Amino acid sequence: MPAGDPALTFRDLAEIPVDRLRGVGEKKAQGLAIHEIETLLDLLQHYPRRYLDRTRQAQIGELVPGDEATILGEVRSASTRQIRGRRTLTNVVIGDGTGKLSLTFFNQRWRERQLKPGMEVLVHGKADVYRGAWQMTSPVVDLVGNQTGRIVPVYPQSEKAGLMTSDLANFMEEAIARCRPRGFADPVPEPVLDRFDFVTREAALLGIHAPESLAEKDEARRRLVFDELLRVQLELVRRKRRIERETAGLAHRVQDELVDRFHERLPFPLTAAQRRAIAEIDQDLALARPMHRLLQGDVGSGKTLVAVNSLLVAVQGGYQGALMAPTEVLAEQHHLGVTAMLGDLSVPDPTTLMGDRPLRVELLANRVGAADRRKILADMVTGKVDIVIGTHALIQDKVEYANLGVVVIDEQHRFGVEQRAALRDKGDEAAAPDVLVMTATPIPRTAAMTVYGDLDVSVLDELPPGRTPIETIWARTDTDEDAVWAVVRDNVAEGRQAYVVCPLIDESEAIDVRSAEDTYAALHAGELSDLRLGLLHGRVTPAEKEATMSLFRAGKLDVLVATTVIEVGVDVPNATVMVILDADRFGIAQLHQLRGRVGRGAHASRCYLVGEPTTSDGEARLEALVATTDGFELAEVDLDLRGEGTIMGERQKGRNDLKLASLRRDKEWVAKAREVAIEIIDADPELEAHAGLAEELELVLGEDDADFLMKD
Ligand code: ADP
Ligand code: MG
Repeated sequence: MPAGDPALTFRDLAEIPVDRLRGVGEKKAQGLAIHEIETLLDLLQHYPRRYLDRTRQAQIGELVPGDEATILGEVRSASTRQIRGRRTLTNVVIGDGTGKLSLTFFNQRWRERQLKPGMEVLVHGKADVYRGAWQMTSPVVDLVGNQTGRIVPVYPQSEKAGLMTSDLANFMEEAIARCRPRGFADPVPEPVLDRFDFVTREAALLGIHAPESLAEKDEARRRLVFDELLRVQLELVRRKRRIERETAGLAHRVQDELVDRFHERLPFPLTAAQRRAIAEIDQDLALARPMHRLLQGDVGSGKTLVAVNSLLVAVQGGYQGALMAPTEVLAEQHHLGVTAMLGDLSVPDPTTLMGDRPLRVELLANRVGAADRRKILADMVTGKVDIVIGTHALIQDKVEYANLGVVVIDEQHRFGVEQRAALRDKGDEAAAPDVLVMTATPIPRTAAMTVYGDLDVSVLDELPPGRTPIETIWARTDTDEDAVWAVVRDNVAEGRQAYVVCPLIDESEAIDVRSAEDTYAALHAGELSDLRLGLLHGRVTPAEKEATMSLFRAGKLDVLVATTVIEVGVDVPNATVMVILDADRFGIAQLHQLRGRVGRGAHASRCYLVGEPTTSDGEARLEALVATTDGFELAEVDLDLRGEGTIMGERQKGRNDLKLASLRRDKEWVAKAREVAIEIIDADPELEAHAGLAEELELVLGEDDADFLMKD
């Protein structure tokens, strides 16, 4: 790599195989391949997962509860025992001369073989005092090897790769030294670098892999994090603008009598949040540009009304509306809810004697008989059906619309980008229908910018008034649990109903089903023997499921024993008690969704979290649920406890180029990167004047990855 050549771009680096480096022979190359490192670009983007500052190393004796800490210690003992639900708990004790720290691992018996007494290890995790002793749950463990220097970078390791963290540090040093004569190209515009006072790319790469001080590492990280987030936002904003530019949309008539009549008939005033969301949506609908909007709102915040309002806007302009739900049960429920909400509204129809006809809402589900289905399908083509509700069936090839104007998709995380595209294609050839996506899973705003970056967002952050707040009680002991069943019996005696959610084993569906069956049998024979119980789990057929739900809805069952299949959308206002067994096994979002199944009617509701957590995180989750019913607040707690996993699966995180950036830690940078991306794209929509950035986007976020980002 002689000097004088232009500075190295990501593309150049991606074309240099890593075995060109001194010291990388066949065996090391194989090890690197296990880490998916094949080129210099891969290598340089393989970042240390932490640093050991030899001068300021934490000691067990000085730990602060709740802090993230890295401890260098010696293994003293390791043992494994069986715990509830056929899981194993491996306990490894390490010491560093100032104290002892107990490491716990679930279902990782192999740790006993890995961590032998006498071995030096570096562990990283959240340190807590649990029952009087220092503990870390599922910490990251590194075998350090021999490394010198004040700040030691610690690279992600895998046992298979056979690479010590010191090997990687050597390769990095060599790679950076060989690249230095040409230098690293910097595609981010100068003014942006100046605005945020960023170091150069070269300084950033050096600073992240071989920092002289932790401050230097922080500066490096700040720059590289920004670059990652900027790439993602550029891609999202570019695509969003492209769709807005290239697809013609429908200019709906937002002010007209159908919507007015709907509002007049509502038995309650809209919440301020509903009014705001409807105004935002109307603004989109009125423009001849397809809407892509996400409606985020906690369970019970009244999203359905907002959705129905949008569908009616379509209908009053002579278009059709479609509401797509993730499951048949939910589609059915929406159908019931929407028909009830609309009552006997009529739509103007000059071809009839009276000048109008009843608004027609149809359900397109498998349950609907073949003859009825045919009739509905035929009437959809001729425009006699105004609003159609269903599942994926709504976008099958054989389903045709006269003029689809607005599509509402409920619980978008179950729909892929292809399905969204297919639904869009159901519209007029010349213009795409407007799309509103509803989700009851609140995620913090900055996270939404990345996860739903191609959508505009409206938020329902307020519940309708008059709800009796759900009281949440944590039942820790057997006595507490006995009291829970007494409350269930009392509520049923008063005519109310209850849910019991079974322990989540999550090893396999079969085991979850067994656990549900066992719970059902135990309650049936014991605590709830006098009550009418129903059972729902993943293995019952859709017909059985619907039958059970119908019985429960009709009040012919007192208690529904279920797995998390009831997590979304199930709406039975008479149900006032939710009992979640082994609640500490569930995530915050899931617990919140489950709790949202009660408190939907006029009666006071309670949610019992039955569980004795084995970890401090488990305790923190249950404490959070007891402390608040605000979904956005819980989403923040969740993000703090678990990190990205809450909103992005590992796979997704790996694929979308966020190697270093964390949506939790780097919140402010998400918003800044979005701002910069909008500035750049609005001035240069296809990045023609930013060839370097365009090339990086193409390289780092391939077509597939970008599609994946759009997905959910
Ligand atoms: P979400 O879908 O957001 O969970 P829903 O749309 O199912 O919430 O609404 C929950 C309940 O609140 C429904 O029974 C609905 O009729 C009622 N509701 C909606 N908006 C209001 C309002 N503004 N005032 C009072 N009740 C409302
Ligand atoms: Mg709903």
